[in-house]
Amino acid sequence: MTPSRTIVFTNVAEASDRMPFTADRARLTGCPWHDVKAMLRDVGLRPTRQRMALGWMLFGKGDRHITAEMLYEEATKAKVPVSLATVYNTLHQFTDVGLLRQVAVDGSKTYFDTNSTQHHHFFVEGENALLDIPDNDVVVGKTPVPPEGYEIARVDVVVRLRRKGR
Ligand SMILES: [Zn+2]
Repeated sequence: MTPSRTIVFTNVAEASDRMPFTADRARLTGCPWHDVKAMLRDVGLRPTRQRMALGWMLFGKGDRHITAEMLYEEATKAKVPVSLATVYNTLHQFTDVGLLRQVAVDGSKTYFDTNSTQHHHFFVEGENALLDIPDNDVVVGKTPVPPEGYEIARVDVVVRLRRKGR
């Protein structure tokens, strides 16, 4: 199973009265930039300039579903000098260490989800939008028996939506 991980980006003003103090929080500075650095160090990735910039764009804005092309476009607009290949590599590195979850919608489209915990998705056809399905709204029926020597890693459900005809 993919390990679940919660990344909390803090707001200094809210931090003290709303969240209980934990050892983890002691290290967080309340600055998302520093939080991204700590997050990368925690998973053993060197906080290079490019990883920091992409990590900031990915994790500094709450949960997101983003393709490599979308992130590349965002980086270009923000004048972050990265190639599409670097964006791809970085997204895959982040996925390998469990910071992101990959959601394949069809053969040509892969989304990266900053919420790496187990959950399912709606995909809006024609709008290329991926949305989280609220917890417990999907009931996966009987899971198949995996072949000898294998275990089920996880079950991803993508429910495709289209606009109702008027
Ligand atoms: Zn999601």
